[in-house]
Amino acid sequence: MYDALTGRFTFPCPARGETRVTLSDFRQLERLPGAAHPSVFHVLFACGCGEEHEGLVTHDDLDWGPLGLQGGEFYNVMTAQLDRVVAELSDVAARRIQAGEWPWSFFCYPEERPRPIFPSSFFLLAPADDRSSVGIAVRCPVCGSISVNLVSAEHVDLPFHNDTEIGVVEHVFPADAERAVEEFSDELYSARFDARRLSL
Ligand SMILES: [Zn+2]
Ligand SMILES: [Zn+2]
Repeated sequence: MYDALTGRFTFPCPARGETRVTLSDFRQLERLPGAAHPSVFHVLFACGCGEEHEGLVTHDDLDWGPLGLQGGEFYNVMTAQLDRVVAELSDVAARRIQAGEWPWSFFCYPEERPRPIFPSSFFLLAPADDRSSVGIAVRCPVCGSISVNLVSAEHVDLPFHNDTEIGVVEHVFPADAERAVEEFSDELYSARFDARRLSL
């Protein structure tokens, strides 16, 4: 469940009962087969307790929650004041998207161009060696291939914050998830990242 005011997802934690994490704390995302509307993602996330746990997040929460565009029961139980904040957030997000700004983007290496995405296109995330940035594997919504970028945590966590320059691994990743997972950490910790500009 996503909380628009703190910008965090809430999950159960065996040690703390409940924990709040940002999108960049996610480590792995996988859409569960079968479920139709809304579809559900199985995620692995790095918890503040030091362990990694599994959790479930709906597609709506994942892609629309950070934009304040999520509706439904969650806000029905909230105060009128929060409803107003949510309405304002939604309006701002909608206007920015209409004006051609994208909440999230990445650089597709096989296509050699930036592409707009939503968080459900994130596939694997891992902190880089120096912890100052995050390695992300993204499945391109247009060509379906997987690219690995090196970005700031803000690039992942803050909608409409797109790093002007990001690192791109010059490597074409296998389309099948299992092999991509294997190659991800190898490439993340050994490969050279080439800088690309992210203006869409
Ligand atoms: Zn925990
Ligand atoms: Zn692509």
